[in-house]
Amino acid sequence: MEINAAVIFETSGDFRIERLELDDPKEDEVLVRIAAAGICHTDLAGRDGHLPIPPPPSVFGHEGAGIVESVGARVTKVKPGDHVVLAWDYCGVCSACKMGKVLYCLNFFQHNFHGARPDGTLTMRKGDQAIHGSFFCQSSFADFALANERNVVKVQEDIPLEILAPMGCGVMTGAGAVMNSLQPRPGASIAVFGVGNVGMSAVLSAAVCGCTTIIAVDIHADRLELAKELGATHTVNAREVDPVEAILEITGGGAEYSLECVGNPKVLRQAVDVLPRLGVCGLTGVVPPGTEVNLNMDLIMNGRTVKGILGGDAIPDLFIPKLIKLYHQGRFPFDRLITFYPFNEINHAVEDMERGRVIKPVLRW
Ligand SMILES: [Zn+2]
Ligand SMILES: [Zn+2]
Repeated sequence: MEINAAVIFETSGDFRIERLELDDPKEDEVLVRIAAAGICHTDLAGRDGHLPIPPPPSVFGHEGAGIVESVGARVTKVKPGDHVVLAWDYCGVCSACKMGKVLYCLNFFQHNFHGARPDGTLTMRKGDQAIHGSFFCQSSFADFALANERNVVKVQEDIPLEILAPMGCGVMTGAGAVMNSLQPRPGASIAVFGVGNVGMSAVLSAAVCGCTTIIAVDIHADRLELAKELGATHTVNAREVDPVEAILEITGGGAEYSLECVGNPKVLRQAVDVLPRLGVCGLTGVVPPGTEVNLNMDLIMNGRTVKGILGGDAIPDLFIPKLIKLYHQGRFPFDRLITFYPFNEINHAVEDMERGRVIKPVLRW
């Protein structure tokens, strides 16, 4: 079928809306009419050639939400008309998948970064020109996207699809890092370093979990203000004060949990240095491959934990509906993070995001 998609034709180039041909769904695939798609830093890493993916032309986008248009013959999970959020894909048969750790799938690259289906077949072309798609098994910067039955999450229909788009990556990552991975006890203290989309979702989740000291650390005063509205009990502007000293003072000896959402070795060091004994630091910030960090071994020796967290340690099919219920009850107002743009203003949205003017740009048709 013919679709409209935002295509990157050269590394670090602008997005261009083009007419492309998209395959019909194969027997285990789901064709989704995209209502909205969030923009995530990983899309821009793909645009800039920082991911182990095939070269352009490519269609990115991995925070899609929409309505099922048609399904392959063997699909039983969803039917045409269902509302779905698209998440990351996984193989379902490797040892990590069998343990329920699907976001740590050993075949992750083949299922998400192959530029094609895992079997190597392309889903998109423009005339005779091959276009790399299947980004996170969706390439949702388009009005239609092909996903697999595995990575579509059926959601309730009484919530606007356009706000659900970022559930599939950014919101799931920040919320899951707290709710699934760190699991702070009620009354605990937590420091969140970097309150963009992931960190702000973590702040919201710390409030849901009953943390009574929630410290947001950032260098943008406007983000710190919003973090306070969303549940942070304290804010620290790391441009003005030393965040480690500030947090040790606020907590009287350290934050029991910390979360690095920036992707910066200096910030990870700070997030570890604010832990008391038995404290746990989660790492969600993405860094270039090979990035190293200096840590105080003696500190870690005293019962501290540093834990890498992908995709909020979530099982998307189970976790995303839970977050939506919390939203429905008014306890998880993640829609406050979103700024909407018309799809054809994708380059404007990307510019605003890169300049830190918006937290989570969402494109809608
Ligand atoms: Zn993402
Ligand atoms: Zn797997």
